[in-house]
Amino acid sequence: MASTVEGGEDRLGKYDLCMLMAIWMEMSPNAQPPDDPVPSSEEKAACVGVIALDGNLVHSKIFAAACSSKYSHGVNALALKYGQRLDGSTLFVSRKPCSECTKHMIQVGVKTVYYFPTKPEVKKEDDLAIVDHTMKVSHLAMKVLIPEVIRVKSQPPPYEATNDKEETKIAQKELEERFGDKPDALSDIQVPDDDTIEQRHQEFKEVLTWLAVKTRGDLPSAYIVQNPPPEMLKENEQELLRHAASLTYILAHRTTDPSTGVGAVLMNKKGDYLGFGYNGYQINASLADFSRYRGENEKDKQKVKYPYIVHAEANALLFRNEPEFDPNDTVLFSSKSPCNHCTFHIRHLGIKHVVAPESSQLPPAASGAIGYGKFDEYCKADAISKYMFTDSRKCNDNYAQGDEEKQQ
Ligand SMILES: [Zn+2]
Ligand SMILES: [Zn+2]
Repeated sequence: MASTVEGGEDRLGKYDLCMLMAIWMEMSPNAQPPDDPVPSSEEKAACVGVIALDGNLVHSKIFAAACSSKYSHGVNALALKYGQRLDGSTLFVSRKPCSECTKHMIQVGVKTVYYFPTKPEVKKEDDLAIVDHTMKVSHLAMKVLIPEVIRVKSQPPPYEATNDKEETKIAQKELEERFGDKPDALSDIQVPDDDTIEQRHQEFKEVLTWLAVKTRGDLPSAYIVQNPPPEMLKENEQELLRHAASLTYILAHRTTDPSTGVGAVLMNKKGDYLGFGYNGYQINASLADFSRYRGENEKDKQKVKYPYIVHAEANALLFRNEPEFDPNDTVLFSSKSPCNHCTFHIRHLGIKHVVAPESSQLPPAASGAIGYGKFDEYCKADAISKYMFTDSRKCNDNYAQGDEEKQQ
């Protein structure tokens, strides 16, 4: 976590974002270790999370996400679902994939795979040797990646500022139990000297802590649900909502907006992710093309910034991997209450379920020139189910209220 920026929030490069999301996908309430042993070793595979960047070399977009389930390894679930649509793609996997997954990645044309250097999916020398040989005679490149966070100058690291929060501590413990506190010995990490080893260990630990803060520490622990349709009320609803909402918080750190980060995801009711977005200038923009204005002057913002920014919700919808989807079965998550423009997009597509923070919780400056009133109007008029993040300190009250609503 060496680099720093002035002001705003911590930032993530695209690959770092994808790896953090892959690690978080392994933590999905839908993720399970697969039942079947790997043929080469009779060893059971660990659970993994995967993110795919599409094959567009210049403007690659986050295309899909998956995790292991009872009947499939995570990478294989992605390969079986999207097949040749993964041609030329780059995958980010929370563990070094097993030999089965490696073969299938090659068949669907995956170009590069990055993995987090924790215990491999199948920790067995035989299987790792097959992975290496399979790779050698293929077009596929496989590399280790420990994500880096670009920190904001002159602010304490988030893990120091919020380490004392109970939510963060729980998440930290869960992440450390699963991934360890340093790279695994079999993870192929190349280190030239002792200092570098120490640095890699530090980075490994810090990145998991950052993730704990962003996914749990910064996120309220419960939601209040307005107008919930009965079919949405599954047993793991709260966990699934929290997991997806956490992804929007991670995505928000990839913005090219100089001051405000927003993340959004589109998910169906089974928990499959259909689209990912963050706010920022258009995909072919370089930093010099648009203003880096950070001030608070609304007039200046309206002139040099707002007309050029594409909102996270719009990007999640525009970049979605399923052109056709059932809007009644789809949930849009955003780390910020949708603005009036995004509300029109949501309404146009007929999306009936939205998870977002309450608009009244926005800081006054953030609700300035863009306009946010239409979303609440739309929710009322069309009786869409709206799940709102609520203050975690009121967690128990909200759970009680949610339960009452569920029983009605
Ligand atoms: Zn596998
Ligand atoms: Zn918007």
